[in-house]
Amino acid sequence: MILVVNAGSSSIKFKLFSIEDKQNPISQVEGLAERISVDGKLTIELNGIKNTYEDKMENHLDAVKSILKRFTELKVISKPEDIKGIGFRIVHGGENIVNTVELTKDIKKTIEENIRLAPLHNPGALTSINAFEENLSDAKLVGCFDTSFHQTMPEISYMYPVPYNWFEDLKVRKYGFHGISYDYITVKAQEIFSKNKDNLNLIVCHLGNGASICGIKNGKSYNTTMGLTPLAGLMMGTRSGDIDPSILQYVGKELNKDIFEITDELNKQSGLHGISGVGSDMRDISEKANKGEKRAKLAMEMYSQIVADFIVKFTNQINEKIDAIVFTAGIGENSSIIRKMVVNKCNLLNLSIEDQKNNSKYDDYLEISSPLSKIPVYKIRTNEELMICKETIKFLK
Ligand code: ADP
Repeated sequence: MILVVNAGSSSIKFKLFSIEDKQNPISQVEGLAERISVDGKLTIELNGIKNTYEDKMENHLDAVKSILKRFTELKVISKPEDIKGIGFRIVHGGENIVNTVELTKDIKKTIEENIRLAPLHNPGALTSINAFEENLSDAKLVGCFDTSFHQTMPEISYMYPVPYNWFEDLKVRKYGFHGISYDYITVKAQEIFSKNKDNLNLIVCHLGNGASICGIKNGKSYNTTMGLTPLAGLMMGTRSGDIDPSILQYVGKELNKDIFEITDELNKQSGLHGISGVGSDMRDISEKANKGEKRAKLAMEMYSQIVADFIVKFTNQINEKIDAIVFTAGIGENSSIIRKMVVNKCNLLNLSIEDQKNNSKYDDYLEISSPLSKIPVYKIRTNEELMICKETIKFLK
């Protein structure tokens, strides 16, 4: 068995894979330990049936103990040692971590050093790594980083036009995120197009609650929209994406708010949520827009325009034949209206999609473009947990 873990400061999200067939890991168990250090709640979904426990969790160690105990009770494992590897999703690996790595002492130190770059994400990961290590001392612990895929970006993509010492002294640069998803899509695209990674050029739009685009040249990240933090780039569920940086100073002064409060509002009160006024869920926004709600319509127009502009921009930067424009994650996989609006706004690219294919059900992936399209357009379901599981398997003896 392999356990895939995504931990926050007060929660641990997990998915357990059976790896009897290493080429084809299967998961029937997933769940969430939440409210850690408040009171504690554990949900384990087994074959679609939810089991809920109110186990007390003072810290991540309690949460891990509770997960393992309930796994044994539910007979999804016969003993904790059945778990041979644990793959952790870790947000920030900084400049030093460019691949999936075994979580050695040195790597843990690097994750700790990167807390200043990802103060909301890295501490939870680190605490949960230690908690699992304490409970499952024989399991191989592996880290997959959202930033590693983007470490191939050239300087021209990752540098900001700011004083050079901000980069030298503070490591202010673009890192990019959603790398595990981009890695998964790149591997999938190799299968779809029967091509080597080195010959693959893609524009991948990962449109979930958080959203970004990656321009992939010769199988490697060439540019991406998120930056030093996930706040940059596209308009997202609740994040603003790129704005005039002077807005911070102006709003701060006018509303007497400090920079932390304003940044918080840019992260949590902006984007689709801020413009539509009906929340951040694209399903609700489309429904309201259909009924003629002006702000919901505006939110969708802005959202699709920004995505389209970055698609065109990255296509220009890659400047080679693009194998596909890919839509993935919650909105990218499921919203036919957003895909259509985006494609219609990529004026320079001469794209064309077929409504019937765009609207139709699919399992894994589907080409949605017509033969007239200058670049093929695909919807592909991403699977970050499976990617982490497969990466972890590589480290087992
Ligand atoms: P996260 O970034 O939290 O992993 P997801 O990838 O699950 O997010 O994406 C969440 C987004 O996907 C939400 O905005 C949600 O409205 C949207 N979404 C999910 N299903 C659909 C659907 N059928 N139609 C339109 N949007 C959808």
